[in-house]
Amino acid sequence: MKYSELSIQTQRAAPADIRTEGFAFLYRAGYLSRTGELLPLGQLAVQQLEQAWHKPEFEANVQNYLDRLGVPTSHSEDTGEYFAQFKNAGEEILLCPACGYAARHELARCHRQPFSQEEPQPVEKVLTPECSTIAQLALFLGIPQQKTCKALMFTRLQDEKLIFVAVRGDLQMSEAKLKTLVGEVRLATPQEISACGAVPGYASPIGLRNSLIVVDELVTLSSNLVAGANEHGYHLKNTNYPRDYAANLVADVCLANPTDKCLACGAPLELRLAEPVFSDGQLLFEKLLMILAEIAHDEKGLALPAEAAPFAIYLMNVPGKTLDTASAAEKLYHLLTDAGLSVLFDDRNERAGIKFNDADLIGCPVRITVGERGLQNGLFEIKQRRDTEIRQIDLDTLIAELRPV
Ligand SMILES: [Zn+2]
Repeated sequence: MKYSELSIQTQRAAPADIRTEGFAFLYRAGYLSRTGELLPLGQLAVQQLEQAWHKPEFEANVQNYLDRLGVPTSHSEDTGEYFAQFKNAGEEILLCPACGYAARHELARCHRQPFSQEEPQPVEKVLTPECSTIAQLALFLGIPQQKTCKALMFTRLQDEKLIFVAVRGDLQMSEAKLKTLVGEVRLATPQEISACGAVPGYASPIGLRNSLIVVDELVTLSSNLVAGANEHGYHLKNTNYPRDYAANLVADVCLANPTDKCLACGAPLELRLAEPVFSDGQLLFEKLLMILAEIAHDEKGLALPAEAAPFAIYLMNVPGKTLDTASAAEKLYHLLTDAGLSVLFDDRNERAGIKFNDADLIGCPVRITVGERGLQNGLFEIKQRRDTEIRQIDLDTLIAELRPV
């Protein structure tokens, strides 16, 4: 296709407030509008990515495909998602570098160990004034937060049921895990909490009514935890599951932390920035283009892999003094397209410097230049976008080298 037919508008600079380097290059190279809509060049790139995915060589295997594109990815077996890792990614995953386990941070599982294992002791009610937070309670009783049980109360949207969640005092509950388990929830109001027999700040699952009790796995493995007495100003020492209360659901509902140990192999987990590129059984091609722009560029512009480039070849001429390099380039353009190659022919009447800059910016894998000196010897200049080497080769070699396999 000819440059003039695609109405490409490259930009010298991106606005200062543009999100990321990759986005800036997509904008400057004319793939995206300022507001992020795909322009013709961007649409072609996304089409290329889609077509490449349907090639038999990938055997419909997402990992093979993403590997070929050079995207560092992790696969979450829990959700079936594939995550691309790159510098400016907007989400977090926890990854085990040892065994490859990966999951969204809010859903990641990890190995949990009880703080200490003791014989269950009898429950003891203690006065704990001004102890409505775990930190105050632990300080007042002189115990680590790992020896306490924390209560969180929600109301389920679908049926207004109170969802009472008990987790170990030092851990943070994951709302994402809770929602997976019970559905959408909101924070319970003080009235809703009182109606079930709980007292905010001093709540525990003991003696509750009309509520769905969710107890975190680790609480069920712990002994003698301090929990609320459901009475203002009082806590209970030595609460033990299931001796002192029942649960409707026992599950992992806590956030894993970076450096927690991998559930599968025991190695420390690591936090990485990532974004899903395969989710709900779908490859997200447009997002993939954005991600490739982040990871496949240099200071001059995009350097997309062949599978994502809108054209395989950027063809241009350098105006000659005696020879008509523009006509020679036009002739070569037809020869190359007749050979089945996808070519972007820069047919503008512009200075060579501008064309070289745009070639680098747009980032097709191969640049071919028709210049006067080469033409006198029947040679064309070829350069790979990701290499610095420039070679002069004849037409037959050129076509043989570039012909799609
Ligand atoms: Zn592991």
